[in-house]
Amino acid sequence: MEYTPEEIQRLAIAEKSADDVRTLDAPALIRRLPLVDRKSSSDGLLMVTPQIALPLWIPINQAMKFGTETITAVQYFRQVIERGDMIDAVVAPAINNVVPVQLYWIRIEYVGTRSEAGSFSEKDDGLFAMWTKSGEKAERVVARVLRDTFGHSFPADRYQSPGFFEIRYQDKKIRKPDMTCLACGLTFEVKKRNRDTHFRPSHSNSMPRVKQGESRASIKMRVIALRQRWRA
Ligand SMILES: [Zn+2]
Repeated sequence: MEYTPEEIQRLAIAEKSADDVRTLDAPALIRRLPLVDRKSSSDGLLMVTPQIALPLWIPINQAMKFGTETITAVQYFRQVIERGDMIDAVVAPAINNVVPVQLYWIRIEYVGTRSEAGSFSEKDDGLFAMWTKSGEKAERVVARVLRDTFGHSFPADRYQSPGFFEIRYQDKKIRKPDMTCLACGLTFEVKKRNRDTHFRPSHSNSMPRVKQGESRASIKMRVIALRQRWRA
């Protein structure tokens, strides 16, 4: 099972391997490109992958559509993509020493089979991945801030992206990773709405919820999370 956005299916874009990029004469879909670096200028986002000699390039304001939602290329990168993540991308033949990208998305790996999914499978998986991965990124950014700035400690897999977004058909609900500190037992909850540009980490369970503006520590944490986010 592979995810391909509707528009790309309709255009019948051919799927090629990264080795074919040098010799393309038409747009192609390339899967599993790990991103190791990125640079943004005022007009474009450059993404570097070891699989392709030339950098990938997409205009920052390029509209990308997943299901019912449209998002710009740079906004998608900021909200969804983390260091080391793989993408699938529709690319055009190289020009001016860059490989133009028309559309890209976080690599989606399926576990299980679609027939078991029921009504959930009717939704666009690219849209589901965009929303959910964005929340996962927020949680990992906050986990690192809580570790580095406040000395809390979480299981190792809370800090780093696995490099893709996993959709499990057997267990369709969104898995909420536990953010309980291994050192002090405090549980944290990361509130993030789809279009939020900042995070609002708050304590839960044993501690009263920290509201925005209520404590200096929470504001500080939020500012640091925001700063970290742009670097991530
Ligand atoms: Zn702690």
